[in-house]
Amino acid sequence: MSSILLIAIALALALGWALVRLGKQRQAVQRLQQAITRQQRLLRENLPGELGRGWDDLCEATSDLIDEAARLRELRAGHLAQLEATLGSLREAVLVIDGGNRVVLANQALQEIFPHAARILGQRLEAVLRSVPFLNCVEDVRHGAAEPQQEIEFVEGTQSTWVEVTGAPIPPLDGGKDPWALFVLHDITRQKKLEAVRREFVANVSHELRTPLSVIKGYVETLVDGHREMPLEDREKFLRTIARHTERLNSLLDDLLTLSRLESTNPGLRHELVSLPGLLNDILGDYRARPAAAAHRLHADIDATLDPLPLDPLKITQVIENLLDNALKYTPPGSRIDVLARARDGEIVVTVQDNGPGIPEADLPHIFERFYRVEKGRSREKGGTGLGLSIVKHIVQLHGGRAWVESTVGQGSAFHLSLPAKKAA
Ligand code: ADP
Repeated sequence: MSSILLIAIALALALGWALVRLGKQRQAVQRLQQAITRQQRLLRENLPGELGRGWDDLCEATSDLIDEAARLRELRAGHLAQLEATLGSLREAVLVIDGGNRVVLANQALQEIFPHAARILGQRLEAVLRSVPFLNCVEDVRHGAAEPQQEIEFVEGTQSTWVEVTGAPIPPLDGGKDPWALFVLHDITRQKKLEAVRREFVANVSHELRTPLSVIKGYVETLVDGHREMPLEDREKFLRTIARHTERLNSLLDDLLTLSRLESTNPGLRHELVSLPGLLNDILGDYRARPAAAAHRLHADIDATLDPLPLDPLKITQVIENLLDNALKYTPPGSRIDVLARARDGEIVVTVQDNGPGIPEADLPHIFERFYRVEKGRSREKGGTGLGLSIVKHIVQLHGGRAWVESTVGQGSAFHLSLPAKKAA
């Protein structure tokens, strides 16, 4: 009996000892976990005693690993700081993406291209630069399968930004297995817009030239084939139509040449000190003498005390004549045309105003664009090229001023141009 009791006591003692040891082991595992999570060295004296030799080695190995991780982190931060210092001041935009698609570096130039992505660092790429082609490009670059250079469009709301992207894979600075990707980006939005404008311009010019040319061609062919048996009356009618369309081609080429000269680096303006009231009165005198102006009522309200201005008199004459021509062309006979000139806030403002049909609000923002017409048929029938107001705008801008329009349908239009009162550009 007593031996059974002894065995039971021994078993109870062994169990108690085992439970105490188990408790210590559990506590030690928890400390180990905490140390790894917090990346703090694990000191043996912070663990319960009597855990066994294996724990001393484990403690030392964990601390070494934690030290190594800290060293790698520092190294990575050092590399990034070095990269940032080198690339940050570049004029080219630079972007570095890590293996997990997070932005690890974005220099100032990049933030200038994408102002909406101000806090881009540390963010996932797809959250800040929403462009599927660019995300695909990042993947391709990582796998060494990207085109050397790509043009990619980024759309943010209504804004479109075109960027030329060059990418290269780089070894991961965090010791991960997925390669990082480095990109140099070039903003080519302006270039793209200019290309679109040029394409549209060429298409417009071709269209404008084709219409009179095909009319001339048609009539000439008919005359070549049948002028002998054609009644004289028809022949004359045909020849007059050819002459009218030739004239139209001529005006179009004249206006195109004027525009291209004005847009060139040497627009050929000859500034001299000119009395604007004198110049305007001369232009109006010539206008009143024209039979075409007889059906309109032309009024002038020109401040005769305006100081002489440095301007190109021929070019400013062209501007005023263009505006007067339009007022005559687009208003019915009997309409009133006013020419006003006065000083206002350090500028001289000249206005050519009519009480004609006016221009719809939707057309107003485009009215100074090349080839823009409110009513295409009416403009062509009146011999318009659609380039007049564009020429006006360019000449005024070359004088350091601006041109704008105010108009109400049914009440009339007022075309204004301002010229700096003291100094021409
Ligand atoms: P166009 O050679 O066709 O006259 P412009 O550039 O001078 O070309 O004018 C552009 C368009 O603006 C015209 O086609 C016409 O529709 C409109 N416009 C210009 N001036 C007036 C005006 N005084 N009243 C009404 N519409 C006008």
